[in-house]
Amino acid sequence: MITLKSWLGGEWREGAGEPRMLVNPATEAKLARTSTEGLDLRAAVWFARDEGGAALRAMTFAARASLLEAMSAALHDARDELLRLSIENGGNTRSDAEFDVDGATGALSAYARLGRELGERRILPEGEGVQLGRTPPWWGRHVLVPREGVAVLVNAFSFPAWGFAEKAACALLAGMPVIVKPATSTALVAHRMCEILDERDVLPPGAVQLLCGPAGDLLSHLREQDVVAFTGSAKTAASLRVHEDLVRRSVTLNVEADSLNAAVLGPDVDPEGETGRFFLRDVLREMTQKAGQKCTAVRRILVPAERLAAVRDELVAELRAVRVGDPARPEVRMGPLATEHQLAEARAGIEKLTPAGKVLTGGARPAELSGVETGRGYFLEPTLLGTDDPGRSGIVHRREVFGPVATLMPYSGRAADAAAIVRLGAGCLVSSAYSDDPEWLGEIVSRLASWNGRLYLGSRKVADTAFGSGAALPSLVHGGPGRAGGGEELGGLRGLALYQQRCAVQGDRGLLVRLFPAGGAAEG
Ligand code: NAP
Repeated sequence: MITLKSWLGGEWREGAGEPRMLVNPATEAKLARTSTEGLDLRAAVWFARDEGGAALRAMTFAARASLLEAMSAALHDARDELLRLSIENGGNTRSDAEFDVDGATGALSAYARLGRELGERRILPEGEGVQLGRTPPWWGRHVLVPREGVAVLVNAFSFPAWGFAEKAACALLAGMPVIVKPATSTALVAHRMCEILDERDVLPPGAVQLLCGPAGDLLSHLREQDVVAFTGSAKTAASLRVHEDLVRRSVTLNVEADSLNAAVLGPDVDPEGETGRFFLRDVLREMTQKAGQKCTAVRRILVPAERLAAVRDELVAELRAVRVGDPARPEVRMGPLATEHQLAEARAGIEKLTPAGKVLTGGARPAELSGVETGRGYFLEPTLLGTDDPGRSGIVHRREVFGPVATLMPYSGRAADAAAIVRLGAGCLVSSAYSDDPEWLGEIVSRLASWNGRLYLGSRKVADTAFGSGAALPSLVHGGPGRAGGGEELGGLRGLALYQQRCAVQGDRGLLVRLFPAGGAAEG
């Protein structure tokens, strides 16, 4: 079994003390151990600020874009190895693993393209300049500059590759060095990614460091110019929001957390028609991809009451047909949950939901598993619950079961009623609505946009081209209000803002035009 080290201060360092184990969740075989006890995290933070930050700030956007491009190429060259590790350590099927690993290289490439467009400059003017006095010379404009600290990237267990890359792409392009802290249980992929970046020598020293294991006292070394980009549970997020050192030093904190994402079928849609099949296909994928361990997975399915029985029967039949087992086997469509703890949490979650909703299918360990030793692995059947009275089933709108679990519920067919139910989730990363009626979709948008980071409108016209509601794209924002954490990532150049200070500069118009020449993607 290998011992994972952290990449800190330009060296690979082993922690002391009792190690945490990383296992294969399909076989329970131990894969690696890691510890971070005793590591000098204060020194790592200063190494990032002094070495990595200084080097990145001296580079133009075009030069930083070249770094991202080199990172993407180095990781893509190791694609097969990273996919294998993702299957072994994450319980992912190959297609789940591709979603994470290709998502990572894709995000780096997308930001490399944006960086090239920004060209040979280090400061981004934002918007138009404004005349401040009655006569032209007294002028002002906003500019975006990199924060002179370190960005600590704390990631959830579900996306060790993409979570790292989507955050690092924005931070590095903005000019900030990063310390990435993957979730301990599935850290093998992020660990290997950092080894590859080190072996290929694609980054200046201190631009990327890795803390491979528990966070220890890392956050207590942060100060005013630093950033924490957190993805994980609402519970951990709540503790970070009141972390004494983060609060005292006004450290910028972005939170990407839980979400009870909804999929709504419009009243005009026949489940047997093209848009209806599109809806069913999306719901099935979003429930079972990565065994439902996606922050964007569908948790609540709203169907007009008169269509409920047809949709229920179809979903139950499809979910029962999903082949579950060792994700390394090609015939398997869904692997196990990532850890024993996640399985226990998902089971406890189903129990919590059952007074409000009854189990229509699933809820237990599958009776048949492909390629799995009897009794081994953290498996759960795709599980569909049903409630007849969503307005009175508060728990199904509050409790995120992070697994292949969703609740089906009826509504009247009116957009206003669907929106009122979706809003009980108190803020989502993404909700989807399926209809060919533009009026109905328009009303959904007007009633739900303020409660969602993203709205996905499925119709016949996009049935063949849409990527699925679960895919967070570099060009569109990811994040959501309320329960979803209130954070925002990605969204093209918007994604850099977390790592930049916006400064309003006032002075002589000629001077400002000279200092901050117009043009480039941040203008306008
Ligand atoms: P978690 O238990 O909250 O852990 C998330 C990360 O926080 C891990 O890296 C964990 O490290 C770290 N952490 C825990 N306590 C910490 C502390 N006191 N200081 C600093 N770091 C700390 O969440 P998870 O179980 O990994 O992920 C599942 C949750 O993430 C779900 O609720 C899901 O909805 C959410 N999620 C959200 C998104 C999104 O983009 N909105 C994406 C994926 C997942 P250790 O592993 O070392 O404990």
